[in-house]
Amino acid sequence: MQNLVDTSDLSEQQIQNILTDAKSFKQQLPTALLRDKLLITLFFENSTRTRSSFEVAAKRLGAMVVHLDPSRSSTNKGESLHDTFENLCAMEPDGVIIRHEYNNTPRKLADKGLTSILNAGAGNYAHPTQALLDYFTMVEHFGDVRGKTIAIVGDVVSSRVASSGIRLFVRMGMRVVLVAPGPFMPDNDLEKFEHLEEIIDEVDIIMSLRAQLERHKAPIFEDYDEYAREYCINKERLGERDVLLLHPGPVMRNIDISDEMLEDPRCKVLEQVKNGVFVRMAILKCLLLDA
Ligand code: ASP
Repeated sequence: MQNLVDTSDLSEQQIQNILTDAKSFKQQLPTALLRDKLLITLFFENSTRTRSSFEVAAKRLGAMVVHLDPSRSSTNKGESLHDTFENLCAMEPDGVIIRHEYNNTPRKLADKGLTSILNAGAGNYAHPTQALLDYFTMVEHFGDVRGKTIAIVGDVVSSRVASSGIRLFVRMGMRVVLVAPGPFMPDNDLEKFEHLEEIIDEVDIIMSLRAQLERHKAPIFEDYDEYAREYCINKERLGERDVLLLHPGPVMRNIDISDEMLEDPRCKVLEQVKNGVFVRMAILKCLLLDA
């Protein structure tokens, strides 16, 4: 039984296989490879893209998907997460797709060894399927991304997309630089810049991030229009540079990325969403069939 708590759970070979399978699924949808498999989704935090993307991916492969909405479950009657999880596992699913506010929840559940755990976002620690679909989108565009420079711009310290992305991109030989105001900057060994202008001429990819207001204990900035004047990715800032623009969504329009840039062909936000389905199909195949 294999889990995906973070991308470090995958070997280099498995990552390559996921890219290859996702590419071929994008060209031609496969037959129902996961017929008879049952997946349960358990999302303790809001989700638009990730939950529906997992569901579409699973159904495209012929699997059954059951959603448990924790806000209407016995969690509300005081049942612990661990008991809820063990009860769901008694129904013998092939995998549980979980999103939770705590960084270590997916690992703790995986350690029980009851079913495959697929981490759909945990605290500010990991969002491995997002990292893989972002990586796929970059490889699809550039071919080889080894040595390419990606600037991650925005609320890096609170972002699980950034944490998982950084670990995967560095492992795959990319140069990762961070651009953020002090309160949004994590403490790590990566190159750091306060202003995008300082590094933009060396950048191949920009990943813009939303301010994770729900994770801030107290408001960090009073005025996000002021923040946007420095960090919003707009045409003025990007010019004619040949840069790929990514964002995991939800995009805060004109704070993270301008309306105009969202329409620009360099912006791959919807392509990321499209690729997310194929990458999650490949991940499900990898975990539930190949492993
Ligand atoms: N959708 C991503 C996440 O769940 C990014 C975000 O919410 O800003 O972390």
